[in-house]
Amino acid sequence: MLIDGKALAADVEAETKPRVEKLAARGVVPGLATVLVGENPASQMYIRLKHSACDRVGIRSENVVLPEDTTEEQLIAKIVELNERPDIHGILLQLPLPKGLRSQKAMMTIRPQKDADGFHPENMGALLLGAEKLVPCTPRGIIYALGRLGVKLEGAEAVIVGHSNVVGKPIAAMLLNRNATVQVCHVFTKDLASHTREADILVVAAGVPGLIKKDMVKPGAIIFDVGINRVGNKTVGDVDFDAVSQIAGAITPVPGGVGPLTVAMLLSQTVQAAENQTAAVEMAKKS
Ligand code: NAD
Repeated sequence: MLIDGKALAADVEAETKPRVEKLAARGVVPGLATVLVGENPASQMYIRLKHSACDRVGIRSENVVLPEDTTEEQLIAKIVELNERPDIHGILLQLPLPKGLRSQKAMMTIRPQKDADGFHPENMGALLLGAEKLVPCTPRGIIYALGRLGVKLEGAEAVIVGHSNVVGKPIAAMLLNRNATVQVCHVFTKDLASHTREADILVVAAGVPGLIKKDMVKPGAIIFDVGINRVGNKTVGDVDFDAVSQIAGAITPVPGGVGPLTVAMLLSQTVQAAENQTAAVEMAKKS
């Protein structure tokens, strides 16, 4: 079975719209600011996708573009400015940053309540403690899809390939929070196949085309292929889709799988941030 990321993303958008309307009734339009430093074409494309998704659900989005030679101080000053703006509820710093700019440092400047991507250490810490607030969007999309598929996570064997801060580590924590048994593999894992073969749920985020082959997968496994790789003029994932899809219980295609869901979750999180900030403002007014 194919996990249709586009259809699931459309559902998330449909679930997000009424929340935007409720905020409108309270006089609030959710606002997302994206911050792009430099002219990386892939980053520009991702930003465009995010802005048109915002338009579809009624989120006001603003693209802050800074030149390639922006200093760390200038970037931080811009983020501080966005932190202070009441009409901006979510701030997203598009990665990667040009050389010389530390993404961790810039990320830490974003006010945790406005951290639409869920990468701030405070939000990451809350996630690890099992008190999820704003969380990274790709893992959130995977958890959403698992919920929609009706997969029982408690006691499920989950294997993650890749231990990045954006995908591998947070999806591991989110699955642990839901009582799955989680193994995390990475480039130094000795016998990758011996782990992946145990997976009821397999999440692959390595950035290596064709890494996961048919004989590395348990028949019936549910597979999320997060990888985005350009091979010739095609975009492919990390899983040998044609062969693996024959035995998988369910699998995401690339493109059209995890990618659209990630963007949809950004919308949901921006609205969540706006809801929280609006509630805080209303509470402060009452007291
Ligand atoms: P990364 O690129 O920061 O790190 C790669 C990870 O894969 C590391 O943990 C590394 O140890 C592991 N790895 C590399 N080669 C391996 C191998 N041969 N065997 C086992 N593990 C190996 O990770 P990332 O930022 O999570 O990106 C991974 C992929 O996911 C990339 O292709 C990226 O473009 C894609 N991605 C897609 C989305 C989406 O929305 N679909 C979001 C984020 C990342």
